[in-house]
Amino acid sequence: MTDNRDKATDQMKTWKANRGSQKADVLTTGGGHPVGDKLNLQTAGPRGPLLVQDVVFTDEMAHFDRERIPERVVHAKGAGAFGYFEVTHDITRYCKAKVFEHVGKTTPIAIRFSTVAGESGSADTVRDPRGFAVKFYTEDGNWDLTGNNTPIFFVRDAMLFPSFVHSQKRNPQTHMKDPDMVWDFWSLRPESLHQVSFLFSDRGLPDGHRHMNGYGSHTFKLVNADGERVYCKFHYKTDQGIKNLTVEEADRLAATKPDYGIADLFNAIANGNYPSWTFYIQVMTFEQAEKFRFNPFDLTKVWSHKEYPLIPVGKLVLNRNPVNYFAEVEQLAFDPSNMPPGIEPSPDKMLQGRLFSYPDTHRHRLGANYLQIPVNCPFRARVANYQRDGPMCMHDNQGGAPNYYPNSFSAPETQPQFIESKFQVSADVARYNSSDEDNVTQVRTFYTQVLNEEERQRLCQNLAGFLKEAQLFIQKRMVENLKAVHPDYGNRVETLLKKYNAEAKKDVTLHVYSRPGASAITASSKM
Ligand code: NDP
Repeated sequence: MTDNRDKATDQMKTWKANRGSQKADVLTTGGGHPVGDKLNLQTAGPRGPLLVQDVVFTDEMAHFDRERIPERVVHAKGAGAFGYFEVTHDITRYCKAKVFEHVGKTTPIAIRFSTVAGESGSADTVRDPRGFAVKFYTEDGNWDLTGNNTPIFFVRDAMLFPSFVHSQKRNPQTHMKDPDMVWDFWSLRPESLHQVSFLFSDRGLPDGHRHMNGYGSHTFKLVNADGERVYCKFHYKTDQGIKNLTVEEADRLAATKPDYGIADLFNAIANGNYPSWTFYIQVMTFEQAEKFRFNPFDLTKVWSHKEYPLIPVGKLVLNRNPVNYFAEVEQLAFDPSNMPPGIEPSPDKMLQGRLFSYPDTHRHRLGANYLQIPVNCPFRARVANYQRDGPMCMHDNQGGAPNYYPNSFSAPETQPQFIESKFQVSADVARYNSSDEDNVTQVRTFYTQVLNEEERQRLCQNLAGFLKEAQLFIQKRMVENLKAVHPDYGNRVETLLKKYNAEAKKDVTLHVYSRPGASAITASSKM
């Protein structure tokens, strides 16, 4: 029976086998002091009490008490691996970043895949977008493409991000996922229609992490050695082919193999079946962006491939599993503001919001010196700055080098070639309402031209199957939004909801509590 076990399940066995005849380590405390007995407390007499002087116990216990760091608010459940990026096509005419320096150049990378709304112990096969974040360890500092498996997102204004996430997480009183919250938010913000439609299509249930595409999603700016700039989007398409789970398979795996995605990735790499993605860019000139028919920095929209064709650049390959999950995956921190010279932000409001939010989160989660943690450390660059001290300062803290600037004693020099590209901004400062910037055209194209008839049917069934859990007025508002995309989309979902609601009316009685301490009242079915 054990012969059939996969590499992930056999990790302990493999670890032991790899040690061969190596002698067992001497057991120590955290301070490296050899330990004589780790099975029995030091007590006054065989029945206790125990002694405070049992530092072997307190050393172990005190560390155990502090084992968890704050869980990521989103993207808590993830799998990570390491490998390289190889340039296959020259794009130096667009970008001077060292990572694209010449064909054949390789750069070490780390990738973390994740679900979004679930906690660290949640199932890998739930319907959710997937995080697909890539860290390139370049000579000019790390570059993080903090992407997803979709080229778009639910909102286009970062002001909405915390509320959007709250609506997808747990109810403040019941601590349950709450369909009213989910669909209330989505139906009140029709810019989410595009991403909601992707999510409830077949690609909302990817078969593990290897069979999905990744996208940098945001619009970025590329700058070449002559200082010429273009706008750009990043795409990384799976070489394994797109593969999705059926709803039934996903449900079964969630119950029987909740770590399916982690296991699939680990086993593929352990078996030498290295997953890879072909990396592309789309490029838009500043002049094209000026005249574009919609805001090219709107994260709820794509740039059509027909107008802005994919330009091949290279390959992402994963060929090493993490040696330790906590050290290399839980602590792996991605940050879109990690951009080496040649790659710069566009005005995309979501990107601009994330430039602040991600490093802010890491400073909270991992500490002010999170960039010194080996997996986050820009190890191919030499850090020389004026940041000092803080908790968990792990290196020499830049020794005796001056910690202020300017100074008269051998300071690192600035280099004009690394100054960010200039750009013009001339506008009235205001809180611009972007809620109604064509929320439907691309969703209509997706519904009518990208999906075939069977895929459309499944989309409507998947969507109605979730939406039916929300209150009726929310269902109705969502249906109206879908009708605005295409009458067929809205009508099909409406018909399914009518059927589901009629079935639910027959046998569902909701028990609700008016307020804490009040007796239970019984309400009939949906409002
Ligand atoms: P294309 O026909 O060139 O591209 C269609 C894209 O849709 C392909 O990239 C395809 O991915 C992708 N796709 C197919 N099925 C799904 C699905 N269930 N969920 C998400 N993506 C899927 O057309 P355009 O570039 O003109 O775009 C038309 C529409 O396609 C857009 O409005 C958008 O909704 C959708 N789309 C566009 C993308 C883009 O960057 N332009 C990317 C993804 C979707 P693949 O080739 O890998 O099979």
